Amino acid sequence: MVIVVGGGISGVACAGELNARGIAVQLHDRGHKLGGRMASRVIRDSETKFDGHIVDIGASYFTASAESFSAVVADWQSRGLARGWTDSFHLATPQGVAGVRGGPMRFAAPGGLRSLVADLASKLPSTQITSNHSVEAVSFAGDHLTVDEVPAIAVALCMPDPQARAILDSKSPQLEAAIEATCGVVWEPTFAVTAVFQNTCWAPFDGVFVNDDAVLTWIANDGSRRGDHAPVLVAHVDPVLAAGHLADPAAVIPIVLAALQRILALTEQPIWVDIQRWTYARPLIAWADECYLDDDVNIGLASDAWAGGPRVETAWLSGTALGQRIAERLAAST
Ligand SMILES: Cc1cc2nc3c(=O)[nH]c(=O)nc-3n(C[C@H](O)[C@H](O)[C@H](O)COP(=O)(O)OP(=O)(O)OC[C@H]3O[C@@H](n4cnc5c(N)ncnc54)[C@H](O)[C@@H]3O)c2cc1C
Repeated sequence: MVIVVGGGISGVACAGELNARGIAVQLHDRGHKLGGRMASRVIRDSETKFDGHIVDIGASYFTASAESFSAVVADWQSRGLARGWTDSFHLATPQGVAGVRGGPMRFAAPGGLRSLVADLASKLPSTQITSNHSVEAVSFAGDHLTVDEVPAIAVALCMPDPQARAILDSKSPQLEAAIEATCGVVWEPTFAVTAVFQNTCWAPFDGVFVNDDAVLTWIANDGSRRGDHAPVLVAHVDPVLAAGHLADPAAVIPIVLAALQRILALTEQPIWVDIQRWTYARPLIAWADECYLDDDVNIGLASDAWAGGPRVETAWLSGTALGQRIAERLAAST
């Protein structure tokens, strides 16, 4: 059996590709739900009428340029799971909003981005998915590959490289050297702060790229993204500020609220606020190769640090490519 570790979009794409090629696969994710950084949550106990609103607290949106991923997105659109959100965002300086910039179509999901990973996973038999399973050790010794002592013919580690390195208990110096080289990418953190208001108290916008600010890099209008126009904002924190508060994210909430007020000229205070920490939000560089599969040992890496990432689309491309390469490797060895 091939074991895929990681139930974000790269892992689910990898497992899906293997399954489609008739290869027995088991996917483990440590989370309660699949999705990884395509994370969505439901607002509860906000004491507003917006309880039940789904908010994206990880990736904000996704783009599609490769033909293969565009076909997946078209299928999601045809079933109402994804929709074109916008092709233009506002720009801001620390002093406030200052212009609009066009770009590619950004897609959103009415049910939250996590619902798209769940849709891909629904094509796998449910017995092949284990949630709430934090893998402790992927080992290779004496020609035996195991995941938490369960034998595997191949292992796909589909997650940020520091998380992959943490569970790789390799006894092969060559593999260790290769992984060390490919995992040498620095990942930056962020926090996503969700703020629910009683009313919309800002000028219309979809999203704002904030430049040269010490507190915020991005603000999403989640009501516009969702399409229900709920007065919900999600602000992403500057990686340097986040790095200094990884042990105590809540400490930055007042700083973030002050920055939102300053940049958007808000006329109300939020009623409900929450913060999500992302220790490994995105890699600072990404490899052009789509994935890594070791020459000697059937251990591979896929994530948004590959295929030119760091984006949802490249994570899907990376996981799909690793699934294909593992399948080809196994076919060649039989
Ligand atoms: C705040 C934020 C904003 C972003 N904005 C955008 C955006 O607007 N557009 C865009 O395209 N991309 C964006 N991204 C990037 C996008 O989210 C990622 O590129 C993509 O989701 C990566 O998917 P993945 O499957 O490679 O990794 P992940 O989604 O991180 O999945 C890895 C999975 O591995 C699991 N895992 C880790 N260790 C273990 C273990 N030991 N055992 C079991 N399971 C384990 C985790 O639980 C997780 O589910 C953003 C990311 C963040 C954090």
